[in-house]
Amino acid sequence: MLISKKIRLEVSEQDAATLEFMQGKCRGLYNWWVMRLRNGEKWPGWEEAKKTLQASKEYDPELCFVYGKLLHEVYFRLHKAMDAFFERVKQGQKPGFPRVRPRHCFFTLIYPATYLKVEGKSIRLPTGGGGRHGPKRYPDITATLTEAAPNGYKEVAISRDGQGHYYASFVHEVKEETHEQQGIVALDLGIKTLAVGVNEQGHFYHIGGFTGHQWYNKQLDKLRSKRAHCKKGSRRYKHLSRVYKRVSQKKRNKQHDCLHKASHLIAHTLVESTVVIGDLSQRQMVTKEHATRNKHRNRAVYNDWGLYTFVQMLAYKCLLYGKELMVLDERDTSKMCSRCGNKQPMPLWKRTYRCRECGLIMDRDENSAVNILMRFLARLGPHTERISVRCADVFTAIDDMFTYEHI
Ligand SMILES: [Zn+2]
Repeated sequence: MLISKKIRLEVSEQDAATLEFMQGKCRGLYNWWVMRLRNGEKWPGWEEAKKTLQASKEYDPELCFVYGKLLHEVYFRLHKAMDAFFERVKQGQKPGFPRVRPRHCFFTLIYPATYLKVEGKSIRLPTGGGGRHGPKRYPDITATLTEAAPNGYKEVAISRDGQGHYYASFVHEVKEETHEQQGIVALDLGIKTLAVGVNEQGHFYHIGGFTGHQWYNKQLDKLRSKRAHCKKGSRRYKHLSRVYKRVSQKKRNKQHDCLHKASHLIAHTLVESTVVIGDLSQRQMVTKEHATRNKHRNRAVYNDWGLYTFVQMLAYKCLLYGKELMVLDERDTSKMCSRCGNKQPMPLWKRTYRCRECGLIMDRDENSAVNILMRFLARLGPHTERISVRCADVFTAIDDMFTYEHI
């Protein structure tokens, strides 16, 4: 399977300016197309769209200073976004038309492997112009990788985080492991604990997530309110914005790190070969509704784990380590008693399940995990219904990591 390895890049000030210029131009081209499509124009497909590049270059001569392959990649990305859109329409899901990329986000630049040079830890990224293409405004970029690049990579994506650090993500093939072992672990993805698992022997796993949200949110609130007292655009205002970006990036990094560790633990360290989780799509709606109703009170109740990202990580790690990931409907799994099947309301603050019928007293999440396991085992009857998870597209995963908090 394809996976991507992200390596920090050390870039000179001038080369950073070149990268910023190129990503700005690519984003401009992308957004220009998105706006036209939003106004009802038909998407001609990437091959046809690519032919309009010459006309676009005549309109904006600065596009000539952007490396051509990067511009071609813009059409490719649009094509993928439109494809995904039509696929959602076909399946009757919420369509979600491709959106304009905001200016505070770095537009990921994708280089095919053949057009860049990696020698040891040095990487050379070409820019536009030169030779028969006319004068070069920006010299080629020479950056230093902080780690050695993996072998046999196909594409390299250049991105930037909220702190202004640059990264190169190498997409490369990795051999999947095969798993001889057996066993099932059912996981309840929760609010107090990231995941509570149970296997067929009745052994429970409690896997914690990142717990510093409250502290970070408080710091971010403070910064925001301080900034609200400054004049927009003033030096202090800009300074506070920078600090805000840095703190929120730090929070994101810590959260990602925790999710990586937890998903690695489940997909690699646990002996069970099948992982069962509940379908999050219904739950997410409920939490969103709650969140809009009462923003501050819920901060205390909800841990913002980033469960969606967690499931994506779990999906590709399970694939990588040869485990099977199953997703099933988790409706009522927290309300149902795992011993007698009685259903009773379980508001979020109730951490212990006390059954009114049979008197079972159990941790709320453990009870749900048992229910998920039982439901899965019941399904494994004569009519096996296995729902597989499509491995997350490498590049949507990269972009997800770079969605910035806009303030
Ligand atoms: Zn009961």
